[in-house]
Amino acid sequence: MNKAVFLDRDGVVNRLIYHQESGIIDSPFVVSQFQLLPGVGEAISRLNTLGYKVIVVTNQPGIAKNHFSLDTLQRMHRLMQDELKASRAVLDGIYYCPHHPEGENPAYRMVCQCRKPAPGLLMRAAQDFHLNLAECYLVGDSLTDIQAGQRAGCRTVLLGKMKCEVCNLMDEQRVKPDAIAGSLAEAVTLILTRWEPARANEVPGPLPAQDSGASLGGSLCLRSKVGDQGVDLLA
Ligand SMILES: [Mg+2]
Ligand SMILES: [Zn+2]
Repeated sequence: MNKAVFLDRDGVVNRLIYHQESGIIDSPFVVSQFQLLPGVGEAISRLNTLGYKVIVVTNQPGIAKNHFSLDTLQRMHRLMQDELKASRAVLDGIYYCPHHPEGENPAYRMVCQCRKPAPGLLMRAAQDFHLNLAECYLVGDSLTDIQAGQRAGCRTVLLGKMKCEVCNLMDEQRVKPDAIAGSLAEAVTLILTRWEPARANEVPGPLPAQDSGASLGGSLCLRSKVGDQGVDLLA
């Protein structure tokens, strides 16, 4: 059985974008808006070195809402992998949900099992990577991430500052992250020191082989495969 650290994407791995036309803060809609947050490559590389699977689990309802195409998402994910490679960091899997119950695109307008707070993306990854979910972690910046992690039985770390509104919501919905951190790098340090103390000071081992061609699972909504070509989204 393997251990994984699940990462939400927007706001954890890459910056959120302020979309002026619509006045909303959301995922990047075009590839040029995609930008890694500082320290993310090093944090993921640290997890790679210690043997954790590092798996992105992300809601991308912008596909259902016609904000961007699957092809754009695929190119964004290829860019993400390329930029991480510069820090010798590798994502073992990228699972995404393109659905939204009120999406404009009828192909993706549905209530599904993969949109967080449902734990579908994590469950699917658990099968593909033989994960013991009780020994896995989820790092996310919204309560729906934390809910998905809790439902899958993982420990959870919420990124961000505690705000009263968040506290109230957490009480109302009985969502409690196991810890709160300011960035992915902080979250990784916290996970290792609090729950994996034997590993926190471990001398980094050899990096995993790149481009092993390992198959990254998924179904209709979430299929992702890393091969020689980079990331192929097979949805
Ligand atoms: Mg997020
Ligand atoms: Zn879905």
